Amino acid sequence: MKHIKHEQTLVIVKPDGIQRSLVGEIIKRYEQIGLKLVAMKMLVPSGDLVEKHYTIDPNWVRLAGEKQIANARAKGETPASEFPVEVGTVVLGHLKKYLTSGPVIAMVWEGAHAVAIVRKMIGGTEPLSSDVGTIRGDFVLDSYVLANQSGRAIRNLVHASGSVKEAVDEIKHWFKNEEIVEYRLVQEAILYEI
Ligand code: ADP
Ligand code: MG
Repeated sequence: MKHIKHEQTLVIVKPDGIQRSLVGEIIKRYEQIGLKLVAMKMLVPSGDLVEKHYTIDPNWVRLAGEKQIANARAKGETPASEFPVEVGTVVLGHLKKYLTSGPVIAMVWEGAHAVAIVRKMIGGTEPLSSDVGTIRGDFVLDSYVLANQSGRAIRNLVHASGSVKEAVDEIKHWFKNEEIVEYRLVQEAILYEI
């Protein structure tokens, strides 16, 4: 088994992150915490690439629907449908439009607890309720209400893998093995060694 310091996670700067000129700010935050950039590329993804990305986990459509229904109920609103798969399918359609609308930057970041640390720094899905100090909380003002009213995906600048298993699958989906670079960062001695 790989040592925990080699845990990897996938980060995608979404088209709004590029258009808002936040690429440097986002990368800076991961660099500063001590993670190591081991792969990176820019592309305009196809609808097929995006759809496969979100359906690697066969439960994602249902879960995304459940999340939106629960959110609507918590606010005392009536969800668009009672059926999570129906709601999730609409979200997936909006996401394909959002992520294929322009270039994105896909990256692999490596380091101890990379998955959890990167998610913590990104913040919750909805920028309105993401914590202050997180990327989504600090740099964007979107909400479920705003996105639903306009019939589009929530703009939240960044994607990051939600679990170690999701990360392994997503990295395989976006990168070939030989595109991931193995090297030593000088700061690893200070971060991990006695
Ligand atoms: P996260 O990106 O925080 O892991 P999800 O995996 O649940 O969140 O959803 C993927 C992306 O789909 C979100 O980042 C967001 O852009 C969009 N999204 C999710 N749920 C909704 C929704 N109910 N309405 C609009 N967009 C949504
Ligand atoms: Mg997710």
